[in-house]
Amino acid sequence: MSVIVQKFGGTSVANAEKIRHAASRAVEAKRRGHDVVVVVSARGHKTDELIELAHGITQTPRPREMDMLLSTGEQESVALMAMAVHELGEEAISLTGAQIGVLTDTTHTKARIVSISTERMRELLAAGNIVIAAGFQGVDSSMNITTLGRGGSDTTATALAAVLDAELCEIYTDVEGVFTTDPRLVSSARKVERISYDEMLELASLGAGVMHSRSIEFAKKFSVQLRVRPSYSDGPGTLIAPETDEANSIVTGVAFVRNEALITLVGLPDQPGVMSSLFTALSGARIPVDMVVQNVAREGFANVSFTVAEDELPAALRVVTSAAELLKVQSVQHTTELSKVSIVGHGMQTHTGVAARMFQILADSGINIRVVTTSEIKISVLIDRTRCSDAVEAVHSGFGLHLPDRTLPDVGQAAIRPASVHAAEAEVVADIVSRLEGMESILVSDVSADTQQSRITVTGLPDDPGVARDVFAAIGEGGVLVDMIIQNVARDGRASISFTVPGNDLDRSLQLLQPFLDAHAGTTLTFDRHICKLTIAGIGLRSHTDVGRRVFRTLAEQQINVEMLNTSEIKLSIVIAVAQADRALQSLRSEFGLN
Ligand code: ASP
Ligand code: MG
Repeated sequence: MSVIVQKFGGTSVANAEKIRHAASRAVEAKRRGHDVVVVVSARGHKTDELIELAHGITQTPRPREMDMLLSTGEQESVALMAMAVHELGEEAISLTGAQIGVLTDTTHTKARIVSISTERMRELLAAGNIVIAAGFQGVDSSMNITTLGRGGSDTTATALAAVLDAELCEIYTDVEGVFTTDPRLVSSARKVERISYDEMLELASLGAGVMHSRSIEFAKKFSVQLRVRPSYSDGPGTLIAPETDEANSIVTGVAFVRNEALITLVGLPDQPGVMSSLFTALSGARIPVDMVVQNVAREGFANVSFTVAEDELPAALRVVTSAAELLKVQSVQHTTELSKVSIVGHGMQTHTGVAARMFQILADSGINIRVVTTSEIKISVLIDRTRCSDAVEAVHSGFGLHLPDRTLPDVGQAAIRPASVHAAEAEVVADIVSRLEGMESILVSDVSADTQQSRITVTGLPDDPGVARDVFAAIGEGGVLVDMIIQNVARDGRASISFTVPGNDLDRSLQLLQPFLDAHAGTTLTFDRHICKLTIAGIGLRSHTDVGRRVFRTLAEQQINVEMLNTSEIKLSIVIAVAQADRALQSLRSEFGLN
């Protein structure tokens, strides 16, 4: 029989009435003929209360006892949920993490799942029970209770769905689903019917409130179909599933981070090991870094910029200033009151002109772009915070996200067209059972190298709205699919933009840019016909400052110079010399155990 996993978050089981309501959903699914596994979180703010209780006793509770304490929140919920199912006339049995057989490593308070045994759950399901499983908890090999980190019930639900080969994992929550942007900011935001794992991950700043990123990475790894649904109504919610070729919109959503600060190291020596020193220092101080960009060096010196949450700025500056002295950097500069606005969508892997349209929309609103970074499915710009709301609204409607059918409104010159090359990666559906071992070792899920691209850089651009639009309109009109785009902060009123194009399209791109260059005195163009773009993928990049440090240390040990760099929520893209591609790939794969 097909298995359905239903997960109810804290607000959906906050009181007796809500527990009864949740139980009735499980009973309905059972009566429709499914085997049902219910995963529950602690009620309401229970976990926060328990943490507060502990802190009333000690500021330094031992992590083992913290897990013992926190796991009681979920234990309470499962028992109550089982009782509610009994009242509705069905059989149910509650199980703790240990009773299910969720084996984790020993990292108390943020343990990772090692394996899950399905035997007991299968027997109970076969005997006609609804299985009610405690989320967020497991045991280590010495039977110590562990917890999976805040929001970990989502991970439990996804993991159970994976090992039970469930047809669907439903996440019941207190919102309608995933939206095209934050509905509190843009009233015309619409609910998304279907979204891919990567899009959801790249939209983290929108999606984080809805689901834990780690559970989505997990769902992606095991191809678990997730449906985020409201618990208070029968709304269908949003399906999070592998991407399809169905005629989808080009852009799925617009995300933003309102309070960012930018730090730029000016005049870094362009040699191996520099990024490693910088990231080792930041990682040592546990400062999470968001956008990182490095454009190609000029005259032997590179500028590196990165953003941090505004309240981390003083700490980040302390670290960077002392690292900068050792590295003999010319100067360290910073800017506050910035916001990051991003568009996310698989359509940009298959359509040209997407970047041009984004830049056009911003130019039409008179918004200046300070920094640009991209991933395969995301374009992020850093702009002044005072223009954040305007930018989100303009981009949202400029891509037709406010319309039911998502038709693209006419915004002038920037036409979006299907590209001749199809860059989408194939989804690999692997055997779940064989991959159970170390099922959560997904800090870095993949390292790949693309040696089929060329790099183009235009320097000496005026730092004005509309310049990026003109560059990418020219390229987009010619039907060339642009991949990695980088614009670092302007210096002396002049900006430079680099991007990569398929190697076969380099000559055509150079021709397409000629009229632009002719029209703008003072601009120059350089290119590199053969480059290697390394991609390091996985959500660990954001959640663990250590990943960046390990990447750059590995490259430094191999004497590999970082020529260009940018980041997204789920990827780090690095341009290196093509001759070093194999060495980089092998050393990074072995560093992250991907062989
Ligand atoms: N109760 C835990 C927390 O509040 C786990 C969860 O809700 O997913 O973080
Ligand atoms: Mg929760």
